[in-house]
Amino acid sequence: MTSLWLDRAPIAPQPALEPDSKFEYVVVGAGLTGLTTAVLLARAGAEVAVVEARRIGAVTTGNTTAKLSLLQGTQLSKLRKRHSAGVVRRYVEANREGLQWLLRYCDEHGVATERQAAVTYAQTPAATAQVRHEYEACREAGLDVEWVDELDVPFANHGAVRLAEQAQFDPMAVLAAMTTDALQRGVRIFENTRVTRLQGQTTGHEVFGERCLDTEHGPVRADTVVLATGTPILDRGGYFARLSPQRSYSISFDVPGDIPRDMYVSADEPTRSVRYTPGTNGDLLLVGGNGHTVGRAASTRAKVDDLVDWTQRHFPGARMTHRWSAQDYVPIDGLPHVGPLLPGYDRILVATGFSKWGMANAVAAGLAISGRVLGGKLPWAKDLESWAPRELAGLPTAAKVNAEVGVEMARGWLRAELRRDGEKPSEGEGFVARRGLRPVGVCTVDGTTTSVSAICPHLYGVLAWNDAEKSWDCPLHGSRFAHDGRVLEGPATRALEVVKTDR
Ligand SMILES: Cc1cc2nc3c(=O)[nH]c(=O)nc-3n(C[C@H](O)[C@H](O)[C@H](O)COP(=O)(O)OP(=O)(O)OC[C@H]3O[C@@H](n4cnc5c(N)ncnc54)[C@H](O)[C@@H]3O)c2cc1C
Repeated sequence: MTSLWLDRAPIAPQPALEPDSKFEYVVVGAGLTGLTTAVLLARAGAEVAVVEARRIGAVTTGNTTAKLSLLQGTQLSKLRKRHSAGVVRRYVEANREGLQWLLRYCDEHGVATERQAAVTYAQTPAATAQVRHEYEACREAGLDVEWVDELDVPFANHGAVRLAEQAQFDPMAVLAAMTTDALQRGVRIFENTRVTRLQGQTTGHEVFGERCLDTEHGPVRADTVVLATGTPILDRGGYFARLSPQRSYSISFDVPGDIPRDMYVSADEPTRSVRYTPGTNGDLLLVGGNGHTVGRAASTRAKVDDLVDWTQRHFPGARMTHRWSAQDYVPIDGLPHVGPLLPGYDRILVATGFSKWGMANAVAAGLAISGRVLGGKLPWAKDLESWAPRELAGLPTAAKVNAEVGVEMARGWLRAELRRDGEKPSEGEGFVARRGLRPVGVCTVDGTTTSVSAICPHLYGVLAWNDAEKSWDCPLHGSRFAHDGRVLEGPATRALEVVKTDR
């Protein structure tokens, strides 16, 4: 499942970490958040390294839909239910700065963008009121949205809110430009280097006045560390309990007819997201949706098949070119967490919780973090900080999210009870069985059957097989592992133990 973006745009490989290096700033993670932050810090003359576990853009940014918009589905009405009008306005302000900065950056660096309107629409009459609430929340926040009774699109719609002059682009083209820019400014970028631990985690913050990160290639030291890892990889701060990991699916199609120009997303479930993107032989249609909490879908392949069916019904003759999926993290109170990992300690900073609207939010996070450490705070940055009293607005959601985590923990152990060890899964399938007291994940991929420990090394959830991506996914906090146990993403930093491999 390689995304259209990752397939199109190879960025030159970067070396792995040279151990025992030392930098003023180490940014962990080379997605949009990490690279924006690195570029901004380097522009100010700082000595910066970016340490990436996989390849640049390999996780969410390279698998996004890349709509850059201030109208963000039903995000503003959801925020308004929990926060004051002022907080929502400042969230919009943060995003506006992120959006404008990114558009300027693209223009200056020759990255193509298409300026299109964003649309949130109701798929059913039952969702029209939801869209109306979004319209009102947008208006209250100062956005010049219009109400549309009927859209000129080939799928059902029952009222929509539309915001002109937003944008879309190829996210890997942006990361490619940022990589070149960062390297030219002296930033060192290390790929295939997973950070596994921050030394001194349990005994105090400081190690000889510096932060010392352990990686799979040895230690790296920094005055300040920025965790731009999607969900924070260090458990201090308990972010895993304040975020819900949400995964969804995207597919690109060659279609014989016209593709609507605007960027659409439904207010109601199952989500349908639609945009076009220029291709080498004309425009392609991008359809996304069918989201769910990571590790909790009965069959992820069925989610993909359902999206293909929907598209072919509404765009006859549509032929799939790529399919992929990705996850992002939804915070319990709806606002991103951008600031110190722990209250009052500015040497370890995090940026997370973009709720699938990270194109503007990630850039806003980069601006807020670089502003914070370089001494120029932005007026809206306080509203995105973690450890703010506004997080109390998310307490009921936190209780629900963490109760579900408890249920999933129990369910995983029960599922393991039900399978007989020794069965061999058919090609592309996997299941969890009990071997003695231990849940073991068994799967067959490319003719090889592999058994791995089915216990997530992060917080011991029992993993579930993802049949679309042939991976082991944790239903608790969203860690994911390849069929052979390698870490793919999420808060886990250690691979699954391989139990037995039959060839
Ligand atoms: C399906 C989907 C569609 C979306 N569509 C949109 C959209 O249309 N518009 C929009 O605004 N937003 C969208 N988003 C959200 C947006 O894509 C994300 O919020 C954004 O890309 C997050 O960027 P990031 O840099 O924070 O994370 P990532 O791009 O995930 O980067 C984090 C990096 O950290 C690295 N890392 C993790 N752990 C370690 C470690 N231990 N050591 C070293 N490196 C590590 C990872 O390998 C990864 O490369 C979408 C999200 C999803 C899931």
